[in-house]
Amino acid sequence: MIPVTKTFFPPLEEYNTQLERIWKNEWLTNRGELVRELELRIKKTLDVPNVTLTTNGTLPIQIALKNLANNGEVITTPFSYVATTSSIVWENCKPVFVDIHPEYLTIDESKIEEAITSKTTAILATHVFGNPCNVQVIQEIAEKNNLKVIYDAAHCYGVKYLENSIFNYGDVSTCSFHATKIFHTGEGGAFFCNSDKLNQRLFFSHNFGHNGPGEFEGVGINAKMSELQAAMGLSVIPHMSQVFSDRKDIVEYYNENLDFSNLDKLRLREGTEWNYSYYPVIFKSEDNLLHFQKLLNDENIVPRRYFYPSLNTLGYIDAISLPISESISSRILCLPLYKGLELKDLRRIVEILNSVNE
Ligand SMILES: *Cc1c(COP(=O)(O)O)cnc(C)c1O
Repeated sequence: MIPVTKTFFPPLEEYNTQLERIWKNEWLTNRGELVRELELRIKKTLDVPNVTLTTNGTLPIQIALKNLANNGEVITTPFSYVATTSSIVWENCKPVFVDIHPEYLTIDESKIEEAITSKTTAILATHVFGNPCNVQVIQEIAEKNNLKVIYDAAHCYGVKYLENSIFNYGDVSTCSFHATKIFHTGEGGAFFCNSDKLNQRLFFSHNFGHNGPGEFEGVGINAKMSELQAAMGLSVIPHMSQVFSDRKDIVEYYNENLDFSNLDKLRLREGTEWNYSYYPVIFKSEDNLLHFQKLLNDENIVPRRYFYPSLNTLGYIDAISLPISESISSRILCLPLYKGLELKDLRRIVEILNSVNE
């Protein structure tokens, strides 16, 4: 089968070398040597002031909301993975959806101010497919209205915007290191925070509130990454430049060979150094998408409908209409993109797609 993405497996010997360290230390979790080393590697590689590793990419969103959103209204995007919305609801906050920009696919910053009420406490936006939101305008709106800014940057490992890691924008950014993400630890994630003071608070939250063995700073949860997860991360991270460059070649192949007369692609915000994390295409109609999807499935090629459905249509959300997000959600499909995708398969995908869109 040719899936939408394939997890990158580092050479087994390299993973074993990391596991041997764990066996030697006889230490499996609670911020062991490997977790701390992976944090340092990431900090240096991405040039960020603070990073804390977590056991997945959803808990850091919840921790950020718990600390910053104060059970208020959270302005958010309907075009993301369900974790963005479910975390808001889970933390007893109210999601207030703002429609997206039809080409960048990120929250439409020009519609944020009209959604602000006296109960609004935060903005939680997603840098979709690693494409940055309009972080400057969002920052201005937040400062003017005294709101916190949290970015779901699950797709953004390695993305730079205006020569700065994308994780350095907003009060907090979260990332996912799930097996389907570009850099992974099997399951895993992280939060990034420029302010040392806020970082300290979030750090306590991710470890039950512990400030020493018998002292607690506020309410906390267990979101710690284990040594086993960090072992995977430490074996994957040396291969990341190869992962980025192999994906770049595939993206360029699609860009050069797809016929875009009846198809739209993601428009990257200017100033973005991208990570080639996803290759979404937007069809003229949902029927075209379904037709193409069926032709591919018949050949055992399985693209995915990221993101479908639009999150404002979830059963636990008060119904509200968001025409752009709903329309894009129904017409967007992510094409296979992973290190190791073979040229003959790539050719076939392009051939089929060009033929349905004639
Ligand atoms: C993957 C993903 C998450 C959740 O991350 P997990 O590590 O699976 O918990 C959150 N938001 C977005 C946009 C994602 O794609």
